[in-house]
Formats: sequence, C-alpha cells, structure tokens
Amino acid sequence: MFKIIRNATVYNPDKLGKKDVLIVNDKIIAIDDKIEISSNGIFDVEEINCKGKILVPGFIDGHVHILGGGGEGGFSNRTPEATLSILTKAGVTTVVGVLGTDGVGRDMNALLSKARALEEEGITTFVFDGNYRLPIKTLTENLINDIMAIDKIIGIGEIALSDHRSSQPSFDEFVKTVADTRVGGILSGKAGIINVHLGDGKRCLDLINEVVEKTEIPISQFWPTHINRNAYLFEEGIKFAKKGGIIDFTGNSDPDLWEKLYGEVKVSKAIKRVLEEGISEDNFTLTSDGQGSFPMFDDKGNYKGIGIGTSSCLLESIKACVFEENIPLEKAIRAITVNPANILKLKNKGKIEKNYDADLCLLDEKTLDIDMVIAKGKIMVKNGNPTVFGVFEKASKN
Ligand code: ZN
Repeated sequence: MFKIIRNATVYNPDKLGKKDVLIVNDKIIAIDDKIEISSNGIFDVEEINCKGKILVPGFIDGHVHILGGGGEGGFSNRTPEATLSILTKAGVTTVVGVLGTDGVGRDMNALLSKARALEEEGITTFVFDGNYRLPIKTLTENLINDIMAIDKIIGIGEIALSDHRSSQPSFDEFVKTVADTRVGGILSGKAGIINVHLGDGKRCLDLINEVVEKTEIPISQFWPTHINRNAYLFEEGIKFAKKGGIIDFTGNSDPDLWEKLYGEVKVSKAIKRVLEEGISEDNFTLTSDGQGSFPMFDDKGNYKGIGIGTSSCLLESIKACVFEENIPLEKAIRAITVNPANILKLKNKGKIEKNYDADLCLLDEKTLDIDMVIAKGKIMVKNGNPTVFGVFEKASKN
C-alpha cells in the first residue's frame, strides 16, 4: 500500500535531482528530499533503495497493435496479440491500441476487449476508433457518439494517407471525419486526436495541410505518425512541426540497418534535428508500432523472414539520443512521457508529480537499462524481469 522510493535521481521528466517519492496505493503522494513516515505498526511501508538509479515516468506507447496486426501477406502473417509482460518489460505503463490495415478480421469490439483485458492485468489502456480506412465502422450510432460514450476511445486512427493501402479518402470525406472527431473530443473532454498513418507516397501530409489551410480546425488536432520512415517525409514533417504541428516518430529494433537499407531516419537523429530546428519541445513523440509486422534482413540485406515490432524500441531510441547524440535525458524522454500525455490529454499521466498516477520506471544510471517498472503503484518488473504476468502467459517463457 505504502512505498517509498529512496535516493533515485528523479527526472519528472525535468531533472529534480535526488529525491524520495512516496506512493500510496496507485498515486504519487509526495516528492521530497527526505520523506519520513511513521506507520506505528498499523500498515506496512515498503522501502525501495534506488541509489545509482534514475526514476522517470512510466512510458506511454501511443500506437500499438495490441490485438495483433499484419496480415498483409495473407492470413498466416497475422501477428499475435500483445501480452502484458512484453509491454511492461519495455517500461510501458500506458498503451494506446490501434487496428491497422485489417479492420475486418479484427474489429473495434475485439480491440476494445483486448484493451480492457490489459487494463485488468494492471496497466492503463486506451484505443483509437477505426483502422486504415474511411468511413470508420463505429461501435455505436456515429463517431461523435463513440467518443462521448466509450471511455477508452480518445480519438481515431490509424487513418492511412499517402499509402497504397489507404482507402484514398477525398478531402470532403476526410474533413468530415476530422470534424466529428474534434467535436466528439470537445464534448467529452478528450483529445479527439486524429492519428494518421503516413505511407511512402509523395503526397505526404498534403491532405492534413489542406484541412488546416481551408478550415478552422487547428493543426494540433492531428497526430501524424511514421514521420521518420524516409528522408522526404521527414523533411515535410519538420515543416509541419514548424507550423505548430505535432509529429510522431516510429521506433525500430534495428535502426542502423533500416537507415542503410531504406533511408529511414533514425529516431535519435530525428529528435536531435527537431531540437536543433527550434521546434517546440512539446511537439514530438515516439511510438513503437508494436505487434506490427516488418520484414527482417541480414547485414547484407538478404530477406530473413518476418518479424514483430515491440515497445522495447522506445527505450533503445532514447538511449541512442543520450549516448550517440548527446541529447539530455530530460529532453529525449519527453517523447514517451509528458508529450504524449499532453497531446492525448491523458489525465495524471506522463509526469512524476503529486497526485499523478504511480506509473514509474527505474533505470540504471549508467546504462539506462530498465531495473524496475511500477504501474498504478504495483511493481510489474524487478531487476529487469517481469514479476506480474498476463492470465495466459507462462512465467517460464519470459
Ligand atoms: Zn501505420
């Protein structure tokens, strides 16, 4: 019930220095230089000594195919669902579930059920309504109603644009959906965000820019992702962010190879550029595209088979920011903590602050490897290994 995290260097994500953090049940109650409480033997106080460790907010992964994705090479290429421990061991304490290309073999009812399952197992979950295609197949009578009536729905996505797999929506069709999402968000106090998957097409962000130019809808309504998938789109993304837009980068488990083979912009380099360009430190995020499928290659570029993305690329990207690009941790970590929390309007998430949810990651000071993960006040990972598993996970397999 009571936990005191002692002597960690706290990044809230701003660097606060060495602090004690008091957790009661699922909330952060106090952050101070030295916290002393007397239980008088009435309740237990768990003390966690964190000398040599860094405490950061639990990670928010805002774009994960929690129900599985893929399926683009046929049914056998459908990827498996996310498990609790695959997320928590990567430091993820809040996840936003998305469908993908396939909104038929997997649908919103199933996505919502999966999100509820992960929430029951201990982390915080949300979903985006829809999949790649417009019109959105809503769960209730219409999109505004979906956002207002279903707590977990905080926006729509991932809507595919500039991609051969997109439903190729017209301006009118797109803008009508965007408008409904915005109004649904306003009426329910949610972000009503439009998460847009961008493909390799040369139109890049054109349709979004057209909506911003021709209507009253603000640029901040959009959260385009995969901005670092190629150099051309990345440059368009930089222009978009300079106008006040928010851009989301997608992590990769083998970024150097993908940079070499496909010209993908490595996340650490992308974040460095964002900061150099004077773009707002609030306007960039990083997500994993976890459980999505991707082709794997050896060092010579030979196809090795199909793989599945995981959230572990988040922290790996942050490490590259710090160790390869010399970006201060407090700036880089914004991409997976306070920035997505603000952009997605996730209350009490993304910061180490009084009355915020006790979602925390403890990292090794030197390596930034995960040591402990706490979700809603409960220890999920200890010494880098998951201690809590999903109902059908076998501990021995992890
Ligand atoms: Zn996508």
